[in-house]
Amino acid sequence: MTVIHWFRRDLRLQANTALQAALDSAQAVIPLFVLDPAILKSPSTGAPRLAFLLNALQALDESLQAQGSRLMLRHGDPQEVIPQLAEEVGATALYFNRDYTPYAQSRDAALVQSLTIETHSYDDAAILPPGAVLKDDGDPYMVYTPFMKKWKQQEKREVTAFKRGKFHDLNGIAGESIPTLEKLGFEPTIELPPASEAAAQKRLERFVSGPIEHYAETRNSLIADPFADDDMATSCLSPYLRFGLLSPRTAYWSAREAYRVTESKSARESIEIWVNELIWRDFYMHIMAHFPHVDKGNFREIYNDLQWDNDEMLFKAWQDGQTGYPLIDAAMRQLKAVGWMPNRARMIVASFLTKDLLVDWRKGERHFMQCLIDGDPAANNGGWQWAAGTGTDAQPYFRIFNPVSQSEKFDPDGTYIRHWIPELRAVPDKFIHAPWKMDESPQDYPAPVVDHAQARERTLEVYKAVR
Ligand code: FAD
Repeated sequence: MTVIHWFRRDLRLQANTALQAALDSAQAVIPLFVLDPAILKSPSTGAPRLAFLLNALQALDESLQAQGSRLMLRHGDPQEVIPQLAEEVGATALYFNRDYTPYAQSRDAALVQSLTIETHSYDDAAILPPGAVLKDDGDPYMVYTPFMKKWKQQEKREVTAFKRGKFHDLNGIAGESIPTLEKLGFEPTIELPPASEAAAQKRLERFVSGPIEHYAETRNSLIADPFADDDMATSCLSPYLRFGLLSPRTAYWSAREAYRVTESKSARESIEIWVNELIWRDFYMHIMAHFPHVDKGNFREIYNDLQWDNDEMLFKAWQDGQTGYPLIDAAMRQLKAVGWMPNRARMIVASFLTKDLLVDWRKGERHFMQCLIDGDPAANNGGWQWAAGTGTDAQPYFRIFNPVSQSEKFDPDGTYIRHWIPELRAVPDKFIHAPWKMDESPQDYPAPVVDHAQARERTLEVYKAVR
């Protein structure tokens, strides 16, 4: 008897709920990945994240070869590919872990309805799945803090180590080889961190063995070289969690263990703050599952009439890191170069695009999705709506980050700015956050594209008009 495990955002063997259930069913498991043209063609798909995914598939294939199998890759609409494969191999059941985005939900519902074989789906992508953290009256939370408090009261599932089962050897079953980026019509782009389950585990272990204890002080750091081996201000686990190279439950229980073994009060506080970040991840997944309209529109619908300027030249200056505001430009150039940006920088550039340049948050959201290796529909959407003031716990509309004071506060000596903007390397510390104030400002660096004080006043009026 044969069953299929359909890998999606769970590209690992360890602590993989649906995969383990398939293996435990004592039948031969076909490990399948489907390259879905609808996702490949989506305007939210960018080369950096796709390249990271392809590398992760290679690593998964190697792990499966060590189990006497290999990754069965098929290219096409899952709605056609899966029934076809099931018939070809005489599979009796399909196993998969649930994905809570609107696209995945409707794709999976249609597939399950059309399949004539059994389907078994599991909660795995969040620590606590949507529906497990509700108000006493059964409604979903719309604000993070009460959600977080309730989340902490709930029991969490332990992680179980991978138990060997029987994978199908795939002899005689045709599959495709893992394509290159070029073959999929994308240009190779950036240098990537290693994309494997082992690399994710190693990073987690390094983080919980020390840096996590200082997270309260380091969480807002503007890390110039995120995947370097030495400096670990934040975990940089986001791309691994995005594709499920690491289970969020493994991350959670590792943090709990670090909490248990330390006696330091400040270390414990730091660990608790890091766990709160994992809860933000769950929270936005729940928000997208309960309020699918956020995928395309404002969480708070009163903002549907907001008059965005959407000036294309300003949007391009932002994308290219040419706004004349050093911190904004450093972060946007980092995004292009490494496909990742520290959380503090994400908050500042998102505020700048929406509240200084009055560009619709959806344009920024899409640009982030095209560039980020950790681009995640729920977390990205939540972050953008927070910055634009249209979301759940939104930054109030009148709170607008000042790009110069944020820069002075979080990059006081300009290290991050100088790393990413070579034109400003020789600028003295005094002017590094606002080089236009120099008598002779650097020739090859632009003047500010907007005046922050004026832009702020204008934005306040635009927001007030719809309230
Ligand atoms: P750590 O600080 O080590 O945190 C651990 C993990 O917690 C992260 O890996 C991530 O999975 C989760 N996490 C942390 N902060 C948040 C948060 N605010 N919301 C949701 N989850 C969080 N995160 C993504 O994973 N993908 C995105 O596409 C994404 N887009 C964002 C866009 C904007 C505008 C903003 C403001 C934030 C966005 N975030 C996104 C959240 C956050 O910036 C990143 O998760 C974080 O910077 C990743 O770095 P880290 O792994 O070192 O995080």
